[in-house]
Amino acid sequence: MSSAVRDWHALAAGCRPDGRLIIDGRRSDSAAGETFGCVSPIDGRTIAQVARGKTADIDAAVASARRAFDDGRWAHKPPAVRKKILVRFAEKILAAKDELALLETLDMGKPIGDSLSVDVPSSARCIAWYGEAIDKIYDEVAPTARSALALITREPMGVVGAIVPWNYPLLMTAWKLGPALAAGNSVVLKPSEKAPLTALRLAELAIEAGLPEGVFNVVPGYGHEAGEALALHMDVDAIGFTGSTRVGRKMLEYAGRSNLKRVYNELGGKSAFLVFDDYNDIARAARTAAGSVFFNQGESCNAPTRVMVHEAVADQFIEVLKAQAPKYQPADPLDPATAMGALVDDNQLRTVLGYIDVGRAEGARLLCGGHQARSESGGFYVEPTVFEGVNNHMRIAREEIFGPVISVLRFSTEAEAIAMANDSPYGLQASVWSHQFDRAHRVSRALRAGTVQVNQYDEDDITVPFGGYKQSGNGRDKSLHALDKYTELKTTWMRID
Ligand code: NAD
Repeated sequence: MSSAVRDWHALAAGCRPDGRLIIDGRRSDSAAGETFGCVSPIDGRTIAQVARGKTADIDAAVASARRAFDDGRWAHKPPAVRKKILVRFAEKILAAKDELALLETLDMGKPIGDSLSVDVPSSARCIAWYGEAIDKIYDEVAPTARSALALITREPMGVVGAIVPWNYPLLMTAWKLGPALAAGNSVVLKPSEKAPLTALRLAELAIEAGLPEGVFNVVPGYGHEAGEALALHMDVDAIGFTGSTRVGRKMLEYAGRSNLKRVYNELGGKSAFLVFDDYNDIARAARTAAGSVFFNQGESCNAPTRVMVHEAVADQFIEVLKAQAPKYQPADPLDPATAMGALVDDNQLRTVLGYIDVGRAEGARLLCGGHQARSESGGFYVEPTVFEGVNNHMRIAREEIFGPVISVLRFSTEAEAIAMANDSPYGLQASVWSHQFDRAHRVSRALRAGTVQVNQYDEDDITVPFGGYKQSGNGRDKSLHALDKYTELKTTWMRID
């Protein structure tokens, strides 16, 4: 049966996710036998009991990953063999598309249509892409004198700890796993306690595809327990972290307090969206802003939540933006026609509603939304919300809200627009809307952000790096550049007599 005509409610009713952790290729309970309830934000129902990993479980997972690395069962396989297994793994992800999409939607509340069309296929493509790439990358011979030979080689780091958030649980896992596994590392993954289910299923699919046991271990649990134990572990060589800037700071502290492991942080954002008056389709720009913020319930690190519009076209822009909002009214995440689903949990709901109160109190004008929705469902939904009359000093323009809330700011000159856009602790993504070639290029160069999009916002591909300037992080996920994070650079000198 095609995904489009499935009865997702019936499938959800029969879904019994396995919440046990995976170490050494086997499912098991946590060492202490403790669990936590996994609550679906769709209706507030507990859908699984999940192993509550702690230090003992992380120790066991790291020991398993270390054994697997040291005996070379994966790291020493020829790249062409690693490729075959990763490509098979990607095929298994696609074959389990409906099951993974359902788990993702039940676990974190995004619309099933998005899980099916974005999260699952993008994750499979990521794993396959790194697999396909790894037997096509050459090392270097340095241009030294003839009396010696200098080889410059990339080698796997060893044991990589991956700590990921809940907003794209499957995809963020894939962005860490693809390059780390392709390069020959062993991985211990700590998924978010708010959405651990797809990562656990992913590990089973990897093992079915032929990944040797111990190479990919998954320990769910809380950040201050399993997460901290992993980031402090003396036998973990690198941490690939995606999450908030607050916890990213801790990652650096943990490395300083332990073994100076490499830390690659992919953190929060407050991305700017600059619309100039020479752009000839203001309605298109406004539709794109709405779609980019309200997608994934506004829980996207790169959502363009600071929309800056030239004063000559601001009223027109705002009219279209307001007219777009009803299309994103939250609805049942299990209905394939739904455009916006549930926020991840009650805590996130309170945070978002709290920021909406802050915006009102700061003097911003609420144009639409601002309320909880579908409360009768037992789930956690917020209306698409637009503020205007925002200035760049307000908290709603400076802090990451991580919900469906857009702030519209006005500017009058190009210099003012650039200064406002850059006046942020974050620098993940930005966009420029202008038909003047010089301006588009000049402003793109001036923006302090890891990705800049011109006359669009959501162009994306695994072939390009993704990551931030400033407090949005330091590493880059995706593209061949991500392999740098999970490899050491070695020089080997050989004397030639
Ligand atoms: P978070 O920082 O609260 O948690 C992220 C992960 O860290 C979770 O697995 C959590 O359990 C763990 N953690 C929490 N406290 C910890 C601690 N003391 N020690 C070790 N681990 C700990 O973030 P979140 O709420 O899950 O995710 C949302 C954030 O992620 C947003 O800020 C968003 O912008 C960011 N994000 C960034 C990117 C990117 O690529 N830059 C992508 C997606 C999400």
